[in-house]
Amino acid sequence: MGASYYAYTVIGCEVTDKIRTKEIVGEGCAHNPPSYQAFCPSCGKPRRIERWLNVPSYDSDREEITHAGNTLKVITTTDDKRLFAGVAVGVNHQNVKNDEGARLIVIQPSNLSAAPTFDDVVEQVQRVLQPLGLWDERAFGIWCVQRCAY
Ligand SMILES: [Zn+2]
Repeated sequence: MGASYYAYTVIGCEVTDKIRTKEIVGEGCAHNPPSYQAFCPSCGKPRRIERWLNVPSYDSDREEITHAGNTLKVITTTDDKRLFAGVAVGVNHQNVKNDEGARLIVIQPSNLSAAPTFDDVVEQVQRVLQPLGLWDERAFGIWCVQRCAY
């Protein structure tokens, strides 16, 4: 048991609010708690039952977005509030207490060459995101994303 800490560098676009939407499936209970409360004070159940609806090209289990055989990694922040799609490299540190060292995670689309140039990476990101209407030059960048998993 413990926590895993991740730090990713993602060359790509922030796609928060573009690849998923939250859908309210129903009320969590019959007590009708006030809207400012996330949980019912009477029974403790969530006020509303919600789920994420993903665009079809986004597989949240695999954390990938794919178009026409081209794939990008989707990295999510710890609080699940921001998502970044692109070519990613990360570091995982599982056992900070014993300082056993970090493990490098290299995530790169299989159809990208072993030593891609920056232009190759930009082209790969555009190849996936543009046809899906997700390419946004203003959202493109070299992002640093931290994540903690318990
Ligand atoms: Zn209730």
